[in-house]
Amino acid sequence: MKFAITSKGDHKSDMIKAIIEQYLSDFDLEVDLDQPDLVISVGGDGTFLHAVHHYFHRLKNTAFIGVHTGHLGFYADWLPEEIEKLVIEIAKKEYKIVEYPLLEMKIYRKNEAKPERYLALNEATIKKVEGSVVLDVIIKGEHFERFRGDGLCVSTPSGSTAYNKALGGAIIHPSLSTMQITEMSSINNRVYRTIGSPLILPSHHVCQFKPVDQSQSFLITIDHVTKSVDHISTIEYSVAEERIRFARFRPFPFWKRVHDSFISDQR
Ligand code: NAP
Ligand code: MN
Repeated sequence: MKFAITSKGDHKSDMIKAIIEQYLSDFDLEVDLDQPDLVISVGGDGTFLHAVHHYFHRLKNTAFIGVHTGHLGFYADWLPEEIEKLVIEIAKKEYKIVEYPLLEMKIYRKNEAKPERYLALNEATIKKVEGSVVLDVIIKGEHFERFRGDGLCVSTPSGSTAYNKALGGAIIHPSLSTMQITEMSSINNRVYRTIGSPLILPSHHVCQFKPVDQSQSFLITIDHVTKSVDHISTIEYSVAEERIRFARFRPFPFWKRVHDSFISDQR
């Protein structure tokens, strides 16, 4: 088995990275930064997002695991104190794989035949630096609403505890293959009307956003990445065919992670 370790880059994370690397090498496991079977991210959920984006091209052949050096994370859910145990598990055992859904986003631009395709682990959002976002929301080919406001967020189930939660979206169990659309401060009055509630779409529904003024420039975020994009004709969102694979060495149920992160870390 070949592995790669990524670190947040602070002193503590770098130290723990070095220790895990030493332990795994002692078990004759090999470092392979290009084609790892297992990627261990040391830091926080943000570090984990970076690691996953780095290896998005080989999701089928790579499993991920996260160690947190700050607060408990949703992806980074192993404690530094547990790494000896973790290393033994990695070296000795066949690990179980748990898969979570991802979001696919395709940006179609004016005068370009092929869309740019992206995958997100948490979410993709559309916003603007200045002024309101005005776009038509199309669900399964049917016009649903004209949105005016700060922006829209489309999240995965595992991303539902991140930005989506701050926007009033529901927390969704990652065993459900869905995507959720949440609003950022929509304008609602007698002239403008949006649904106002988060929408949860199944995996066979496609949703499109069509900017009303295609000459405008928008800010598109994909997890931790922000891009400025202009001449957008359509952005299409769906649950991706690909899934992210987590190496599970011990059970840590999603609802327990939710409890320990948001309610209390003592039972
Ligand atoms: P950041 O600004 O450092 O992260 C924001 C916070 O979100 C951090 O505490 C991060 O945990 C946490 N987080 C990331 N993924 C999560 C998940 N799936 N469930 C629960 N919490 C999660 O930026 P970043 O570390 O690069 O992370 C990018 C993410 O930040 C985006 O994908 C978006 O979800 C989130 N975000 C949230 C808001 C908001 O809540 N208003 C606004 C913008 C972006 P760590 O400290 O462990 O990294
Ligand atoms: Mn962060």
